[in-house]
Amino acid sequence: MDLCQLCTQHDAMGGYLCPGCTKDTVARLDCLPSLYEGLLSFLAPSMAVSQGRAGKGGPAPLPVRAEILDLRGPGGMVGVVEDWLSAVRLERGMRQPTPAGSVEGRLKAAVAGLIVNMPWIAVSWPQAGTFAEEIRALTRSASSIVSPAVDEVRGTRVGTCPAQFDDGGVCGAVLRLLPGEQVVTCSWCGTSYPPATWVELKVLIDKDTRARNAA
Ligand SMILES: [Zn+2]
Ligand SMILES: [Zn+2]
Repeated sequence: MDLCQLCTQHDAMGGYLCPGCTKDTVARLDCLPSLYEGLLSFLAPSMAVSQGRAGKGGPAPLPVRAEILDLRGPGGMVGVVEDWLSAVRLERGMRQPTPAGSVEGRLKAAVAGLIVNMPWIAVSWPQAGTFAEEIRALTRSASSIVSPAVDEVRGTRVGTCPAQFDDGGVCGAVLRLLPGEQVVTCSWCGTSYPPATWVELKVLIDKDTRARNAA
């Protein structure tokens, strides 16, 4: 065995996953709890943090998206991650953990358990490739909802900054989500928009765009 099971490149280490794919898999696992949290604001847009500018009545609630419910449900992210941890522990003859507490807490615990076992998974577990592929797919489906398609070089153009200055003027600089970033920050006025505010942000941007087109 000298081909990595994930990228199928030659792996001088002779394990099941090359060092690069091992590192990427750890990074993907590490992202899962914040992706899980990020999905919440897309599940219930009407609960998104108000910036105080949405005006009369705020945005109309959007219909609940089934794929988000699936990802956040018991068989979703947490189920996949717990199943893999349990397979690892079984294979290694370790005691099976009993998942307890909130889904969020269980997800964090299972992610931590898998990360601890990563060196063994990469070198000694024939299922490493299937595992790494499934974690990659999980991260992709969650992040395709949380962040729009990413322009790898320039970042994703989100719209124009809706921050309002004290004199009533609107910033209007182009906002981009840079590759690898979790927060949109305006390079002109410095206002930052964490994922929890993105739904609200989109509403403000659409409103500004309509106002500009009408003018
Ligand atoms: Zn690889
Ligand atoms: Zn700005």
